[in-house]
Amino acid sequence: MVEELVRWGYLRTPSLIEAFRRVPREEFVPSSLRKYAYEDHPLSIGYGQTISAPSMIALMLESLDLRKGQKVLEVGTGSGYNAALLAELVGREGRVVSMERLPGLASFGRENLRRTGYGWVEVVVGDGTCGYPPGAPWDRILITACSPGFPPPLVEQLKVGGRMGAPVGHFYGGQVWKVAEKKEGGDLRVENYSPCSFVPLVGKYGWKE
Ligand code: SAM
Repeated sequence: MVEELVRWGYLRTPSLIEAFRRVPREEFVPSSLRKYAYEDHPLSIGYGQTISAPSMIALMLESLDLRKGQKVLEVGTGSGYNAALLAELVGREGRVVSMERLPGLASFGRENLRRTGYGWVEVVVGDGTCGYPPGAPWDRILITACSPGFPPPLVEQLKVGGRMGAPVGHFYGGQVWKVAEKKEGGDLRVENYSPCSFVPLVGKYGWKE
């Protein structure tokens, strides 16, 4: 899978290639779907939610320039797979907090992370559109569910010079992976990366249930 993602140009950065090699994706999918873990598709993780396709995850993480020591907030823990990749990228000198609104999925993700050696990633149950003020300001924020825009509390909690990535658009279609960089004074410089398709971000500053 990693060789193909490199050949297709999705994976370029050596630290990210190494992270993809180290995190065992089959440990983050339901046991009945293990045989598909290394195919380039999203897979169901229950509760009507999905783990994104490896190529989409590679594109998201390449766009965020993640480095050792950074403090990262993920919104949408799901299986915990993306959080494990974040943990590899920022290392133990960094911090990864991942928020999940569905308690059952938070438990699934937390247990997958613990079993694979990433138990130091903090999984928090709650509405990630409101962010996690105790850990702010964040160097990086990743939203892994489609949002009407960049939620204002998350913009507030992003460091100046920090980056936030999100699939922005409607859950019926027309979503684009966008990355916003916060400038001095609080303005965002937004770059469009790629069309994408994510489940909805449900919360106070997302979509209604
Ligand atoms: N990053 C996950 C992984 O590696 O498996 C996949 C995330 S899945 C595409 C999107 C997740 O976002 C779902 O688990 C969903 O329950 C969660 N979600 C949706 N709205 C949320 C919110 N407001 N706060 C936290 N999590 C939310």
